[in-house]
Amino acid sequence: GRRVVIVGAGMAGVRSAVALREQGFTGTVTLIGAEPHQPYDRPPLSKAVLLGKAEGSAFDIDFEALGIELRLGVDVTGVRPADHELDTEAGPVAYDTLVLATGAEPIRLPGSEGVPGVHLLRTLDDAERLRPVLAEGQDVVVVGAGWIGAEFATAARDAGCPVTVVEAADRPLAGVLPAEVAAPMTAWYADAGAELRTHARVERVEPGAVFLDDGTRLAAGAVVVGIGARPATAWLAGSGIALGAHREVLADDHLRTSAPDVYAVGDCASFPSGRYGERLLVHHWDNAVQGPRTVAADIIGESPAAYDPVPYFWSEQFGRFVQYAGHHAPGDDLIWRGDPTTPAWSVCWLRDGALSALLAVGRPRDLAQGRKLIESATRLDPALAADPAVPLKRA
Ligand code: FAD
Repeated sequence: GRRVVIVGAGMAGVRSAVALREQGFTGTVTLIGAEPHQPYDRPPLSKAVLLGKAEGSAFDIDFEALGIELRLGVDVTGVRPADHELDTEAGPVAYDTLVLATGAEPIRLPGSEGVPGVHLLRTLDDAERLRPVLAEGQDVVVVGAGWIGAEFATAARDAGCPVTVVEAADRPLAGVLPAEVAAPMTAWYADAGAELRTHARVERVEPGAVFLDDGTRLAAGAVVVGIGARPATAWLAGSGIALGAHREVLADDHLRTSAPDVYAVGDCASFPSGRYGERLLVHHWDNAVQGPRTVAADIIGESPAAYDPVPYFWSEQFGRFVQYAGHHAPGDDLIWRGDPTTPAWSVCWLRDGALSALLAVGRPRDLAQGRKLIESATRLDPALAADPAVPLKRA
């Protein structure tokens, strides 16, 4: 039978393997992953797992029953597309079809490598190393007020740790949301008893302390670095597989790469969005769940429709449920739906009158309705969209 090999046993790799079986693929499926653990879900790591409310987050999947061969704890070091062969620590592996699903890896803080007490938060091992920090209520300095920084700060405050968040920009989530939308989130930190220091740059990290470039010394039993992630594609160097500006695999609208019989899906790949007219590199869970269906259908030869999702993600921070659907761009019209100083509000973005994106804080119904309206590129009446008492619906 045909041999499909999948590199990376995170959500995208696991879903690709399972989707192949669900869609009736009868050849061999081999899933190779660098981490030694049973494949697991990442979002709980910065939430329940960190707080010790859940032991782990392993997927409830019977790989053996599905005929999926797991090779865990194996690093794939290269691929030779012309030979249809991978190189691994354990020797070469031949494939007929290859799926790249190596995800992303956190960006390290320069100069912090090897300093005791400096942590990243990407893997189960990271979360397990951070658990005692929370359990002991240590002083924590979080570098970066992005999604991971906010979620870690939330868990650390829940555990009673003194928390300082150091952010180089003037606000949280500066790379993701416009200033006026992110500004109200600044108050969330203070409300939770976390100190947010904006315009703050780390000069150096020593065991037990973080020094800012203005001379401030912050005591730090632990430092958690959350300054972003980049596609884990260093191993593809020299393979000839085309990579983009962020070193992500450049996939097409069926998630095929530039090499024959090689697909890429999840955090490691970007794809051209017909909906938004630009290439999207999405580092969120839903994309790692949806993309594999297209990959599996294309491998099987079912001629699936182009992969063109409405991106979606959520974050749980400071007691709030934050959700975002779609993709906004500079120039889209921004409409407030509710008062951002209250616990529940939303923001809509309109492009040419149609809903392009929606951010919902504590308003899951807005999100559910908005997601459908984005999917169908529905025009909205801006005056109605601005009234939080009126359900979101077509103009
Ligand atoms: P990954 O999950 O990164 O899996 C890739 C796997 O490939 C890894 O296990 C890696 O070890 C392995 N690998 C890499 N290189 C190699 C190699 N050369 N050889 C073999 N194996 C390799 N998203 C949301 O939408 N909402 C959330 O609330 C949310 N919370 C999150 C919390 C945390 C702490 C983290 C880290 C992420 C969170 N995300 C969230 C993002 C979401 O988890 C990711 O988008 C998703 O995990 C991407 O899946 P993936 O399979 O593409 O990549």
